[in-house]
Amino acid sequence: MERREAVQERLAELTERVSAVQAKVDDATARRDAAQAELDAEATSVAKERELVAGSVPADLIKLYEKLREQQGGVGAARLYQRKCEGCHIELNITELNEVRAAAADTVVRCENCRRILVRTSESGL
Ligand SMILES: [Zn+2]
Repeated sequence: MERREAVQERLAELTERVSAVQAKVDDATARRDAAQAELDAEATSVAKERELVAGSVPADLIKLYEKLREQQGGVGAARLYQRKCEGCHIELNITELNEVRAAAADTVVRCENCRRILVRTSESGL
């Protein structure tokens, strides 16, 4: 009889632990689902934004960008920051920098090393 009570007690204890673990699983699942929904909404928003921006960029430049993006692991353009291409992290040499400096603002300039489109800003180091 005593043994039976001990077994029932242990069973109740284990059942309680299973419930506690299940509650944690349910909570984690709910948080995962909420995070996934947030990411889906963000992806939709970013895709719409990208579509708007892409619509204002010349078709041949979009084509070049898409080609480079495919070749360069998803990054077709990189900022030129303090004389470095942020795509390959190589510093442009003086000749390359002079060419970028001399190029008109609307000229598409590319990194000699990785061939990505270089995006010039006030922090390009030109
Ligand atoms: Zn580069």
